[in-house]
Amino acid sequence: MPPMKASCTPGSIETTAQLVARLDPSSTLVFAGGRSYEASGAADVIERALHGRHVSMIRGVPADPTADDVRRAVELFRSDAPDLVIAVGGGSVIDLAKAVRSIAPLAADPTPFLTGERPIEAGGPPLLAVPTTAGTGSEATRYAVFTVNGEKRPIGHPALIPEHVILDPELTYSLPPLVTASTGLDALAQAMESMWSTRSTDSSYADAREALRLALDNLETAVNLPDPRSRTAMCTAAHLSGRAIDISATTAPHALSFHLTTRYGVPHGHAVALTLGPVLEFNAAVRPDDCADPRGPDHVREAIADVLKIMGVRTPSEGRAVLSQLVASLGLEPTLSGMGVDDASKRHMLAASASPIRLATNPRRFAGTSLVDLIADVP
Ligand SMILES: [Zn+2]
Repeated sequence: MPPMKASCTPGSIETTAQLVARLDPSSTLVFAGGRSYEASGAADVIERALHGRHVSMIRGVPADPTADDVRRAVELFRSDAPDLVIAVGGGSVIDLAKAVRSIAPLAADPTPFLTGERPIEAGGPPLLAVPTTAGTGSEATRYAVFTVNGEKRPIGHPALIPEHVILDPELTYSLPPLVTASTGLDALAQAMESMWSTRSTDSSYADAREALRLALDNLETAVNLPDPRSRTAMCTAAHLSGRAIDISATTAPHALSFHLTTRYGVPHGHAVALTLGPVLEFNAAVRPDDCADPRGPDHVREAIADVLKIMGVRTPSEGRAVLSQLVASLGLEPTLSGMGVDDASKRHMLAASASPIRLATNPRRFAGTSLVDLIADVP
């Protein structure tokens, strides 16, 4: 099932009650984050919608959940056998719910699914995803990412896509600036990477283009001077970026981001943004002999020219500078060195850690030492 296109409507969280009444679950499992569950205003509405029904909860889902987090949630799921799952939170909460509701009916041990030894299969109860951040677009994708043996690993299957989505920008009004910044950068990067991905289609490209435009126009305001308009725009940008990468997948900046999160503790969106500008410049120099996109280097150059046009710049190096300034203007460190990746051996390790699956969709191949050289050149 392709992900449905939900629209960001203030107040739409109130429709939870109607949906619950229609689905009429006998047992509901709710996944929620920490403080954000109450702060967003979602807790009140969800509790009212489920009043009088059997409910179990998994609270305080951590950022970047591990295989152990999945295992614990699978145990609870199997003892409760819910016929509705609700996930309220950021990408980590929604990712965990997506995986658990698909894996738990199949097996008690989630590990083979997380390592890719065993494929996910369709099945599991319906899932309602209610994002409280405007970032990952996880509610619209077949992907979920977990930390397995110290490394972040993506899993993907269409059965992971939630059947029901409520996008209410009001749930993001209470987000702290740094969370708005990092999650918003994820939406922006996903959109840009999707535009140049080797797997882009006309439909993913249109969603990604709109997401990039909205994120560039609204992220700074949403972080530094948030208003309903910028919050709603970022909510839409995040969702469209999720829809786009569901088709196209992400590329090199995401491939490099996993190590920055697990080893240096850099939040996902911030981690992705650290190499987005350098990869933009790298990809813009694509040649016939290193082009990974079967549509050829002219196709890639056209997509990148379009990215630059949306950014309002003329050259890839100007685009790189604009991205670096944007990260700094959001109150985040724009350099790898500033985040602790400050010597040649750490940079070699970063290059070696890059996720091969995510590198494969980058439109320009990293031949020889080009990935090491790219990272060496990042401030
Ligand atoms: Zn991402």
